[in-house]
Amino acid sequence: MQQTIRKIVIVGGGSAGWMAAAGLSKALGDTLEIDLIESEEIGIVGVGEATIPPILKFNDFLGIDEATFVRETHATYKLGIEFVDWRARGHSYFHPFGHSGREIESFPFHHYWLADWWRRGGDYDYTQYNLETVAAYKGRFGHLMSEGDKPNLNYAFQFDAVLYAKFLRNYSAERGVIRHEGRIVSVEQHPETGFVTAVVTADGRRLEGDLFIDCSGFRGLLIEGALNCGYEDWSRWLPMNSAVAVPCERVADITPYTRATAREAGWTWRIPLQHRTGNGYVFSDQFISVEDARARLLGCLDGAPLADPRLLKFVTGHRKRVWDKNVVALGLASGFLEPLESTALHLVQSGITRLLALFPRTGIVPSVVAQYNKEVLFDYNNIKDFLIAHYKVSDRDDTPFWQWVQAMDMPDSLKERLEMFRETAIVVARDPELFRETSWLAVLMGQGLLPKAVHPAVDSVDPTDLRLHMSRWRKMVESRADTLPAHEDYLRRFAPSPELRRREA
Ligand SMILES: Cc1cc2nc3c(=O)[nH]c(=O)nc-3n(C[C@H](O)[C@H](O)[C@H](O)COP(=O)(O)OP(=O)(O)OC[C@H]3O[C@@H](n4cnc5c(N)ncnc54)[C@H](O)[C@@H]3O)c2cc1C
Repeated sequence: MQQTIRKIVIVGGGSAGWMAAAGLSKALGDTLEIDLIESEEIGIVGVGEATIPPILKFNDFLGIDEATFVRETHATYKLGIEFVDWRARGHSYFHPFGHSGREIESFPFHHYWLADWWRRGGDYDYTQYNLETVAAYKGRFGHLMSEGDKPNLNYAFQFDAVLYAKFLRNYSAERGVIRHEGRIVSVEQHPETGFVTAVVTADGRRLEGDLFIDCSGFRGLLIEGALNCGYEDWSRWLPMNSAVAVPCERVADITPYTRATAREAGWTWRIPLQHRTGNGYVFSDQFISVEDARARLLGCLDGAPLADPRLLKFVTGHRKRVWDKNVVALGLASGFLEPLESTALHLVQSGITRLLALFPRTGIVPSVVAQYNKEVLFDYNNIKDFLIAHYKVSDRDDTPFWQWVQAMDMPDSLKERLEMFRETAIVVARDPELFRETSWLAVLMGQGLLPKAVHPAVDSVDPTDLRLHMSRWRKMVESRADTLPAHEDYLRRFAPSPELRRREA
């Protein structure tokens, strides 16, 4: 429909809705009108507290001051994810946000590390060559100054989802976004084109728009309710369909990382914030009852629960089209991938960035819609493969759930990637894939998949020189991590929440 977009209506005021409001008002607020409608009666999902490093770019784009952001969302820093009991019970590994080691003669470090490890044997210490892992396990964090070719710390945030939505709501209001409170009960569509023309609230208000952003959560009020886009269901590979979530009191020091612990029928998360710790059990109800999952979660908290565990139900997959006619779905309205690698808020962010990059000046053009769908679904597919790898590359077969996973088939794209790595130690994961070589290596090697051979270029480096190079790198990483303050001390100085200030007093 060739009609200039003059007014955008965002449906939903969870993280997705307010991220969209913030991003769109920052870029286009002076040129068009943006309204957001949400319903306090329905509320927001209120989880989604761990992020990945690209969020820094989003904050930069919005022009948000980091200390203000950290203080107001009660955030902590995240250097990666610790995976406990995934490969086998009693085993853990770290998926850091940065590289391990440094390329040698333009070839990735892990080829050299593997050759050296095969020669000398001993401890499996690949991530000791990674600054984020070493700093995380020392409980340290700080903003490091760049120093020549020494590694810098890559990081993301762990924050309170409700405070995040509130923070972006204030940001958006300052840029002219108009908020409406009300429960939408019907959606009006153009009789010929099917384009959405207005949403109507229970008290009879009509909100018209040219472009609608569906951020209404799992229900997908417009993308599914009105446009019936259909859903691609991925439960055959990712069978989790439930989660129970509960915050608890913070008792220990704040770890600068998220923990994901494999359990009998899924996994639990632990996300430390300044004022509390977020916890949840993501599971498949084919293998554990909700009651047992709840009890299991409550049994593994490290502080007193601050609420009753809340149950959330979902189906893994995505809408067949995430942009249809004049509706773009973001957040839970567009699809769901379990939060094992904290990717959902990133998908919201990349959806907004893409929408802005492709924003049609003269109206909605089918080629733009097709391109947007292609790019978003490419991301969904790659993330899906990465998540499945966490289950498939594991020695666990100790419960019916893990036996089911062992027997489960895999997508061909993942089969090929695993075979290539097993045979050659090569991982091909390049731009625009979200998870690159560093992440695949951390997870595949962490989960216990070791290649049969490494690149032949390794043979041209003298083993003694290589050993020397590696031990220097390791010492440098160790000493660089030692220059950092304790994570909690840093937060206290840099951006303390009222709770952190109270603890100090
Ligand atoms: C168990 C779990 C754990 C997660 N963990 C992470 C994580 O660690 N990291 C991460 O990045 N993501 C995570 N996510 C995903 C993340 O929570 C979501 O992507 C994010 O919160 C965005 O949600 P949303 O805004 O799409 O939906 P919601 O928060 O559900 O918001 C929906 C909005 O739509 C409004 N609405 C709905 N219907 C109507 C109506 N009829 N009228 C008016 N308004 C309406 C509601 O009021 C609300 O404002 C997790 C998700 C789950 C389920």
